Amino acid sequence: MLSGFRAAITRRGFATNSTVKGFDGAIGNTPLIYLKGLSERAGAHIYGKAEFQNPGGSVKDRAALGLVNNAEKLGLLKPGGTVVEGTAGNTGIGLAHVCRAKGYKCVIYMPNTQSQEKIDLLKMLGADVRPVPAVAFENPKNYNHQAREFAESLPNAVWTNQFDNVANAEAHYETTGPEIWAQTQGKVDGFICSTGTGGTLAGTGRALKELSKGKTQVWIADPPGSILTSFVNNGGTERSGSSITEGIGQGRITDNMATFVKQVDGAFTVPDEKTIAILYELLDTEGIYLGASSALNVVAAYELAQKLGKGSTVVTILCDGAYRYQSPKGLSGAIPDHLKKYAVLD
Ligand code: PMP
Repeated sequence: MLSGFRAAITRRGFATNSTVKGFDGAIGNTPLIYLKGLSERAGAHIYGKAEFQNPGGSVKDRAALGLVNNAEKLGLLKPGGTVVEGTAGNTGIGLAHVCRAKGYKCVIYMPNTQSQEKIDLLKMLGADVRPVPAVAFENPKNYNHQAREFAESLPNAVWTNQFDNVANAEAHYETTGPEIWAQTQGKVDGFICSTGTGGTLAGTGRALKELSKGKTQVWIADPPGSILTSFVNNGGTERSGSSITEGIGQGRITDNMATFVKQVDGAFTVPDEKTIAILYELLDTEGIYLGASSALNVVAAYELAQKLGKGSTVVTILCDGAYRYQSPKGLSGAIPDHLKKYAVLD
């Protein structure tokens, strides 16, 4: 097993010897990166699954492919059809790639709080991007409802519905979970990640629970402002604060999450201060420059390793890289004074 950044710049997973057909075949089989410094500090083995290596640059490529394949299988999407989705960006980028590769049109509704890089990339990929005000799910103007309504108004269009279409979690059940199991030779004491749709957590978590016969603990890491910590710990829906992280945090139990939430062993909230500090520490010491949700996941993996004890193995998800969050609207605007020394990167 290679450690640190080297693992990410050498071969990709097990797909290296096979020829893949088009974009679909390049999704998944990402390396598992050993986070050496943190592992030593925790006296444990902490790994991050390098999902930023997917062709669209994030973990959401897996869901995008699963959702489109599912729509095709159900006969909802025919040649020349249109895929419509509401997304914080990464699912949209995955969908835009898959749609170009398969010859579909792609329309993306997204909250106007997301980074400019994601919007620019979606346009480059030929998607019709529609930024809309960031309002709660209960509001009919929420980006998801607008996506559904638009798809309903168009012939041969499908709303892939990443939040409540369980083809999303299924993609992780079939790929991410078994990959982690194989890469750790079946030794995973804990798996933890944050959630947006819940597809990654639920699908990967369910696979690991099954493969380990219930031995792998699966935990949720929440950003401030999300209800999942409260839901898992006391069945409540309390939330407080807000977060600079993008693509994670949830105000309801999505259908993807509902498939698994009863089996979740625990949840806790990670404050932005810790997320930002680890983001720059990982860049400084491991050479890995991650998006904020990944950094939050790494903090959480470190804390879970401490809970599970010395020698434990904990795996988390490195959802995307920092390169799509460079603009002032993104992470660089959020660096606290004591971390500013890390902000000068050139
Ligand atoms: N991190 C990032 C950067 C994301 O864009 C997303 C999805 N919105 C997630 C994590 C969460 O993944 P999931 O939807 O599978 O819960």
